[in-house]
Amino acid sequence: MSRKGLLIVISGPSGTGKGTVCKALLKKNDFWISTSATTRSPRKGEVDGVNYYFLTEETFKDKIKNKDFLEYAKVYENYYGTPKSQVLKAIDEGKDVVLEIDIQGALKVKESYPEGVFIFILPPSMKELKNRIIGRGSETPESLNLRFKSAYKEINYVSKYNYAVINDTVDNAVENIESIITAEKCRVDRIKDEILNSKEGILYE
Ligand code: ADP
Ligand code: 5GP
Repeated sequence: MSRKGLLIVISGPSGTGKGTVCKALLKKNDFWISTSATTRSPRKGEVDGVNYYFLTEETFKDKIKNKDFLEYAKVYENYYGTPKSQVLKAIDEGKDVVLEIDIQGALKVKESYPEGVFIFILPPSMKELKNRIIGRGSETPESLNLRFKSAYKEINYVSKYNYAVINDTVDNAVENIESIITAEKCRVDRIKDEILNSKEGILYE
């Protein structure tokens, strides 16, 4: 029996370093990262089909109607969504899939795919979070304030996740996520069928 891949959902407030940590995680590991669709405009250096699929609001809404998204959410003033068919196909093929999405989206995925691994990225402090959002240089003063205020509320959602990882240094955060994934792959409820029932399991080799 071939083992399905894991769905690893990495989320948390804006500016905690999800994007940075995921990039470092993917450099070291053979994970499959889902490319989201969004209605926001590309930032400098972002490429369509690589960072996001940049869609018009009309096209995005058509995809919602067609149930093309595993989840979607309006984050600040733009829509973001995870293309469903590609993600489910990759999991079925045994690939470990990483989603880097906001909290609303992660909670929706948890409802439809509770066997996913839900990891909440925390900043080392709120002061550092503010510094990071300012340092990224992508926000106007208004959107900086909005993101920062939302972060205070969003941190309460940590209790809905399976794991919390503090992004003090990128290396530490990546190491913790790798350990979580290793442990998840050894969970009895994930592998007991393979051990006990499958003709290809260890009892039969
Ligand atoms: P998110 O994807 O959660 O919105 P980003 O990955 O864009 O966050 O990170 C926000 C800012 O913080 C970026 O400028 C990034 O370089 C910086 N950053 C991320 N992780 C760390 C870290 N461990 N230490 C210092 N700066 C970091
Ligand atoms: P940004 O505009 O900074 O790239 O992303 C803003 C927020 O949208 C981030 O918190 C990011 O994780 C989230 N996001 C990116 N893709 C998706 C997605 O497909 N679904 C959801 N729900 N959130 C997403």
